[in-house]
Amino acid sequence: MLQFSDLPALTGGALLQLPTSAAPVHRLLLDSRRVTTPAGSVFFALRGPQHDGHRYLPELYQAGVRLFVVDAEAAIPGGAEAYPEAGLLLVPDALVALQAVAADHRRRFHLPVFGITGSNGKTIVKEWLAQLLSPDELICKSPRSYNSQVGVPLSVWELNETHTLAIFEAGISEPGEMARLARIIQPTLGIFTNLGTAHDAGFASAQEKVAEKMRLFEDVDTLFYCADHALVHAAARRQLRPGRTILSAWTRQRARYDAQEADLLVIIHEASADRTVVRVERARPRPQEYTFTLPFADEPSVENALHGLAVLLWRQVAPTEIQRRLDRLQPVAMRLEMKQALNDCYVLDDTYNNDLAGLRLALDALTRQPRRGRRTLILSDVLESGLGGAELYARAAALLPAHGVERLIGIGPDISQYRAAFQGLAAEFYPNTEAFLASFQPEQFRHELILVKGARRYGFERIVAAFQQKIHGTVLEVNLDALVHNLNFYRRRLQPGVKLMVMVKAFAYGSGSYEVANLLEFHRVDYVAVAYADEGVELRQHGISLPVMVMNPSPDAFQKLRQYHLEPEIYSFERLHDYLAAAREQALPAIHLKLDTGMRRLGFAEEDLPALCQLLQANAAHLRVASALTHLAGADEAQHNDFSRQQLAAFGRMAPQLEQALGYPILQHALNSAGIVRFPEAQHNMVRLGIGLYGVEASGQEPDALRPVSTLRTTVSQIKTLPAGATVGYGRRGQAADHERRIATLAIGYADGYDRRFGNGVGEVVIRGRRAPLIGNVCMDMCMVDVTAIPEAQAGDSAVVFGEDVPLTDLAARIGTIPYELLTNVSERVKRVFVAE
Ligand SMILES: *Cc1c(COP(=O)(O)O)cnc(C)c1O
Repeated sequence: MLQFSDLPALTGGALLQLPTSAAPVHRLLLDSRRVTTPAGSVFFALRGPQHDGHRYLPELYQAGVRLFVVDAEAAIPGGAEAYPEAGLLLVPDALVALQAVAADHRRRFHLPVFGITGSNGKTIVKEWLAQLLSPDELICKSPRSYNSQVGVPLSVWELNETHTLAIFEAGISEPGEMARLARIIQPTLGIFTNLGTAHDAGFASAQEKVAEKMRLFEDVDTLFYCADHALVHAAARRQLRPGRTILSAWTRQRARYDAQEADLLVIIHEASADRTVVRVERARPRPQEYTFTLPFADEPSVENALHGLAVLLWRQVAPTEIQRRLDRLQPVAMRLEMKQALNDCYVLDDTYNNDLAGLRLALDALTRQPRRGRRTLILSDVLESGLGGAELYARAAALLPAHGVERLIGIGPDISQYRAAFQGLAAEFYPNTEAFLASFQPEQFRHELILVKGARRYGFERIVAAFQQKIHGTVLEVNLDALVHNLNFYRRRLQPGVKLMVMVKAFAYGSGSYEVANLLEFHRVDYVAVAYADEGVELRQHGISLPVMVMNPSPDAFQKLRQYHLEPEIYSFERLHDYLAAAREQALPAIHLKLDTGMRRLGFAEEDLPALCQLLQANAAHLRVASALTHLAGADEAQHNDFSRQQLAAFGRMAPQLEQALGYPILQHALNSAGIVRFPEAQHNMVRLGIGLYGVEASGQEPDALRPVSTLRTTVSQIKTLPAGATVGYGRRGQAADHERRIATLAIGYADGYDRRFGNGVGEVVIRGRRAPLIGNVCMDMCMVDVTAIPEAQAGDSAVVFGEDVPLTDLAARIGTIPYELLTNVSERVKRVFVAE
């Protein structure tokens, strides 16, 4: 683990002051508003044109941050004496220091690392490559489009020992920048996406720009690119060392392929409205031809997908498997969430980047939605270096009528300046997001489909929040990337051949059953399990074809089991007799036998085994047993280890006995999430993963291994200023205080699953990165928090109830319960939103 005391050597800086306590470096902090875990955070005081990070030192110190990197002693507000417990490192340039720390972190890992650059499509190629490789690898990738001098270090810092592959994108705007990014990313593989025709302001010529971008790849083993981009092709041949870097190019031109300038020839065979069939030829290692269908029709998407296809072929993934993965590719723009909004409107939310290509993709997504009233576009300045404003906005404007957009709201100085380009459209313009929100009138939007498309810095999520606020102030955000991360954490602990059953009971622990099951199916888990037959039916009705175990089927559900091919767990002679009676009349699905080894809840006891074996043998013609299982009563806690081992020993005697009596192999499984971590020797041939998938490591042995999956988020409905002495809410419980306070009312209450026990200071939420304690009682649909210490909080702000910044385990401990209860309590009226980063 990196220590603060290692930083001088890494950065060439000088220690002004040592911290008073041990100082491992866990987090790199650049934004004072994002402090959530001050311990182990190092703040780098960066400077920008209108920004000086040093200004935030007092506030950060106050919040508990103890490690700082500064670029001048004189820039420390109040001088070093004001920070008696802090470690202070003086460096010539805090950004350079940040990059050096990230580069050092990167050097600690030996794994394949893709570097991606090019004019367009970096983020999409990165996302798709990650989607395509995720069944095989544990991938670390840049969050969103973190591809800048600041974003790349933060991306690389995410690398940890669980990853098996990394994908980072690099974006530059000036000469000299790429060499710095290359030193941080240290790619071993490269993808050059493409080259825009316009040349960026920062470069003298297109050649210079390509040469600069190519510097990312000076040390890669293999570079993937399209040889039809002549400048890229020439630069790759000129700049990269033969014998060091293998060029793996694809082309659409047969002449080029015949001249052996590319390894893959891609011929578009057939293009329809929504898919493209390509024929791919390659000569080496032996001549082969394939046909693949890409689920896209537009030119940029096809090109982006072909880069991913080239990588899969190079990795020798079987063609049928390649097709399976291509079929599941999600257009990045389609990951846009369709959200219900006020006045019968829907919002298509795309609030993180905005260039022309992205705008086109989002508009395509808009047209794919069923018509609901008129189509409105809320658009920020379009960020596209290279094109002049007049041309840029003329091109953007030309896209709108073709996509049926009738109304435009332009936000930003540039789009306002070039408003003339949008003549003929109902259009309004605002200089910034605040101006729009200040004059936002809900009644001006009715029964329309609104695409909200803005570059990240415009903070358009506030606009989306404003539209949604009155509908459901509260959403449960489920992070699918985190789910996959957690899945893989457990997967890697399994011995070869051990199967994985995942529990998706109780609405997948509150996370949304079929959406989660769908992801699990893609990632090839072996089984899923639900509590009741109806939960299984719901999975089947949403197209889940995985084997499903139903833990508690009632006899009146046997027909459903048969119809939907759901396999029941049988835990008593009574149930077994019922099932056998039905199975004699018509074939029923195989069963799972629950053995009681100590839970004393459900299951056959050891002394039942002889009779059980006899019964099964006598009915072998009608009934097949798929597995035998038991459940540990105390896997969460080390104090019960002896008891757990006794349970496992009993299971080790009982299950093989059953198998022997049956005369064919059955699956045998005992471990839940905590058990997988605690008893690796008892995996038998299957395990049952539950809460761990959803981000809670119940054994406590691997506290940092999992990522939180669910974020329960609500909104501030109103803020009131309370005079000294006033009380808040029902029963006048909110304590009177001797000073004025600001109280925020939140749109969440116990009917949403927010426990009443959080009232009166027990719970807290995070608003604008800071904690706000509950005040007064939790009511049915709302509750109140004290935001006196967060003066910038305002109505419409989002408040995190639990998630990354508010760990479930801590929250559960506050009211004496377990994370399971908090997760499954989130009521069904709370909308689930699925996100991928
Ligand atoms: C819920 C459940 C699990 C999963 O338990 P976790 O602690 O959530 O991992 C495993 N087996 C059975 C029988 C269960 O009911």
